[in-house]
Amino acid sequence: MKALTYLADSDEGRFLINEIYNRELQVQFNDQMKAGFNITDQVLHWDPKRGLTIVDKDGNPGAISPALVLAHELYHWFYNMPGDGVLEEELATAYEGRIARDLGEPIRPQYNSFYDRNPDPRVYDSTASGTKEGGWRAVKNGQIEAGPEYDPDVKLITNSKWEKDDPENPQSIDSYRRNRDREL
Ligand SMILES: [Zn+2]
Repeated sequence: MKALTYLADSDEGRFLINEIYNRELQVQFNDQMKAGFNITDQVLHWDPKRGLTIVDKDGNPGAISPALVLAHELYHWFYNMPGDGVLEEELATAYEGRIARDLGEPIRPQYNSFYDRNPDPRVYDSTASGTKEGGWRAVKNGQIEAGPEYDPDVKLITNSKWEKDDPENPQSIDSYRRNRDREL
């Protein structure tokens, strides 16, 4: 799986990837923007096309890759930690951040460092991440590639349409929230 190969490029990531081969892991794939580890049935839920909007320590918006979201959930799985505890989330987020640093993705300093004005992106490639300055990038055939190929319909990092709430604009964040609420 491409996401695992990508994560294994990070020492921190490789640590948990190796554990997948040592222990049983059940992953339920979805296309509903759902990610989480269910401690009751031990199933990890993951949408390979869902990135996550974050804001870094300097306040810059960015999006982490679906692969990095998977790493976060793998941390919950490995330590069998529910996703609703504050400490557990900060630990999982810190782990995610160390991999982000290794792989050059934007870093979410705290669990709640979401960029509220941007929707979570849907990306073609599970390794795609983005920053406002750097645009979108993903790993393709082992190489870092950048460009709109990894930005199917979001343009959330660079397009100012997301910066303003505009009820007249069907693409506005309000519209997005309505749609999201319906989807989820
Ligand atoms: Zn979590």
